[in-house]
Amino acid sequence: MPGAEVLTRLPGLIDVHAHLREPGAPHKEDWDSGTAAALAGGFTTVLAMPNTQPAVTGRAALALSLDGAAAKAHCDYGQYVGAGAGNAEEAAALAPQAAGLKLYLDQTFGNLKLDDTALWFPHFERWPDDRPIAAHAEGKTLAAVILVAELFHRSVHLCHVSSREEILLIRKAKERGLPVTCEVCPHHLFLTLEDAPRLGAGRCEVRPRLATPADQEALWEHLDVIDCFATDHAPHTLEEKDSPNPPPGFPGLETILPLLLTAVHAGRLTLEDVTTRLHDNPGRIFGLPEQPDTFIEVDLDENYTLGAAGLHTRCGWTPFEGQPVRGRVRRVTLRGELAFEDGNVIAPRGVGRNVRNVQLNKEN
Ligand SMILES: [Zn+2]
Repeated sequence: MPGAEVLTRLPGLIDVHAHLREPGAPHKEDWDSGTAAALAGGFTTVLAMPNTQPAVTGRAALALSLDGAAAKAHCDYGQYVGAGAGNAEEAAALAPQAAGLKLYLDQTFGNLKLDDTALWFPHFERWPDDRPIAAHAEGKTLAAVILVAELFHRSVHLCHVSSREEILLIRKAKERGLPVTCEVCPHHLFLTLEDAPRLGAGRCEVRPRLATPADQEALWEHLDVIDCFATDHAPHTLEEKDSPNPPPGFPGLETILPLLLTAVHAGRLTLEDVTTRLHDNPGRIFGLPEQPDTFIEVDLDENYTLGAAGLHTRCGWTPFEGQPVRGRVRRVTLRGELAFEDGNVIAPRGVGRNVRNVQLNKEN
């Protein structure tokens, strides 16, 4: 019935895992386009990963990224620092300004991988307890990082859990009372290996890889173990994805909420399951400040089809092309100001705040 539209108010969403490609690859994304995509997806905070060019492993690169964010971000943001083979001391000194420390323990995009377990020790030793350590650790590496975290008596957040083996390990660790938390990405909840032929050889590349239907089923079965949903928004252009050497990664900021809301309609989870994992738990685990007078308004009943048209991400495609969904972000309000409405980003560049709200001293 015309005029009978009812919008549902949800808290501003928090994405604890996004690749915004600045500095280094503005043709894929930057703080401007990435945070515009975030608002369009219902996110009012994004935490950016450090595998940029240069990688954010020291003071200069952190300052470079945060300068870009301060000038261009349309929503609030944080920046991770990356753990390297010889930067434990410098990284720990930057912790007050960082969203968290990212450990790359399995192969991914970029060259921050730490192979030798002993290289992890200095980071677990020095990184302060009041800032999270987030780890990309698959399969047996996940068991190893849970052990190392326990040896150093500290918490660890496990990124993009994708397999039955991993979610069962995390369940066991939690049952033992270990302070581990984890996130799962929409592409592992809604796509499997069986979608790979349809997506195509380059476009299906993502790390962790798309998993089996049994793995996907295990994630849904152990939903209670999943603390956060996170996009792992990792934009690359279609030209790159369709090249002989396709880089891994999917964009995800603008498609995660409609996919999850569709699952709510299907009875697979509740609206509270969504807001717990896209707002409450991310805010608590990462120690983020409250955003006063900040919320999103969603039309839970709008039916439409996901597609590249109208996306704000600069990469201009989605692996969910053609997917029917029910539920659309209509408005986003950030600190009392209308930030997004019906496809249009209204918040100006530079309005976003650093969640750590501290000045970086660039001189030393
Ligand atoms: Zn990632």
